[in-house]
Amino acid sequence: MIDAPVLLVTGGSRGIGAAVSILAARRGWRVAVNYALNRAAADKVVAGIAASGGEAIAVQADVGKAEEIVSMFAAVDRHFGRLDGLVNNAGIVDLPQRVDEMSAERIERMMRINVTGSILCAGEGIRRMSTRHGGKGGAIVNISSMAAKLGAPAQYVDYAASKAAIDALTIGLAREVAAEGVRVNAIRPGIIDTDIHASGGLPDRAREMTPSIPMKRPGSAEEVADAILYLLSPQASYVTGAILDVSGGR
Ligand code: NAP
Repeated sequence: MIDAPVLLVTGGSRGIGAAVSILAARRGWRVAVNYALNRAAADKVVAGIAASGGEAIAVQADVGKAEEIVSMFAAVDRHFGRLDGLVNNAGIVDLPQRVDEMSAERIERMMRINVTGSILCAGEGIRRMSTRHGGKGGAIVNISSMAAKLGAPAQYVDYAASKAAIDALTIGLAREVAAEGVRVNAIRPGIIDTDIHASGGLPDRAREMTPSIPMKRPGSAEEVADAILYLLSPQASYVTGAILDVSGGR
């Protein structure tokens, strides 16, 4: 395992991030599982990976805080001494509101965690993986959302706007570092059955949205993880700047 590649998954403790962490370990990655508050959930992911013969650590950091992002990458450096992949997955929604009801504080928090956090993490990743900085190359997968295309009216247009920013980050950064050994791609999940809907005050959202999904079912975190692991893999060696919808046709 000593030479195995190292992957940092932000928000790796639950939902899509947990599924990515577990699948990545199964595919031979050593994994840094970031979490914000839920230490027990992160420890469970790490213990599950260890029980299957893999290697993982839990790393606390709020990606809405620049200094905690710096400490998180430093912890990965100390433990593993290398970085080969980053999944910019940590993200939040908020309670359903119209734009004409939203406060500046809400919008600022949404952008700080979903956008600024992802850009800062990408920068830290590039500083370690880009050949321009002496790195050996690597891959970044950003987690956008179908909301970037659909706009999430009357639910969270601010969230949709934050995910459209992730799409632009993906295209621009991919081109910026394409000649430096780092591929940058994104996934746009549709309605995926995780806790995020309850955190936005809509615990039944996945079920309630089902009629609007062409496949007539929500996706699972594991189905999204499969697509992320493809983009991280050598099989995607000529894929960069791509945004893949994993949305059941939505
Ligand atoms: P989830 O089940 O709510 O899990 C969120 C994860 O992110 C948890 O591990 C949480 O850590 C972590 N997190 C939240 N805020 C954080 C912060 N400030 N700093 C670091 N970690 C933080 O969410 P999910 O459904 O898996 O969503 C993952 C990503 O997919 C998000 O970017 C989301 O926008 C995107 N997405 C989801 C769906 C969907 O339908 N589920 C659809 C489209 C896009 P703790 O455990 O410590 O709280």
